[in-house]
Amino acid sequence: MTINLGSIRAAVLDMDGVLWRGPEVLPGVAEFFAFLREHGIGYALATNNSTKTVQAYQERLASIGIPTTPEQVITSAVATADHVRRHYPPGTPVYVIGDVGIRQALAEAGFPEDSAAARLVVVGMDFSLTYDKLKTAALRIRAGADFIGTNGDLTFPLPEGIVPGNGSALAALQAATGVKPLVIGKPEVAMFEVALARLGVGPEAAVMVGDRLETDILGAQRAGLGAILVLSGVVSAEHARESEIQADAVFEDVADLHRAWARALELTR
Ligand SMILES: [Mg+2]
Repeated sequence: MTINLGSIRAAVLDMDGVLWRGPEVLPGVAEFFAFLREHGIGYALATNNSTKTVQAYQERLASIGIPTTPEQVITSAVATADHVRRHYPPGTPVYVIGDVGIRQALAEAGFPEDSAAARLVVVGMDFSLTYDKLKTAALRIRAGADFIGTNGDLTFPLPEGIVPGNGSALAALQAATGVKPLVIGKPEVAMFEVALARLGVGPEAAVMVGDRLETDILGAQRAGLGAILVLSGVVSAEHARESEIQADAVFEDVADLHRAWARALELTR
């Protein structure tokens, strides 16, 4: 697919590697979002991280010059709660492995935690994961509870090296129960469907901007959005050229995308 930026009405953006890299804010970020607002182009931020709350992201975004409403911040926790709300009656008891992000999202959606009666097991990244938690989850899944994972990332990078991500906990539970989880985060389409619904546009009028081929770019293509890779995160230009997953467009960073988008709008005027 070739993207005509002049006809795009909304953008879904990944955050880490696109807006910032660890503590460092990437160049031209505030100016790019000012440009989107100036041209009436909608935006949402989407992350597979289920540990933090929407409010925590909104505060960080505001601190670097990106104003958002809560609806514009879509974590895998929020998308999971959205899915649960659409598919289960209110009050369905859940067993949750995870941090404050997923716990708050499910509680606000009206799903109480009850490890003894859970009809649904939801697993997000948990930095305090224990054998007892895996045991409770496995027993509930074996008793017939549905099994949902916020995101399937097997690993993630820390300064000391590559460490287990939520997908590794899901794999442990799948091994213990023989049940495959339903996964919500990128590259699954559920995240993109939530974003498009909130932006009020169809996939053909939207782009995804991300730095990871196997989540952001693959997911955008599955969901039918234009897939824009930026090289400001984990993927090098060489890796992008050689990968089986090919983005529809590649830019150095959002400042580079901003310049191309501004030119495209000039031409369509
Ligand atoms: Mg990223």
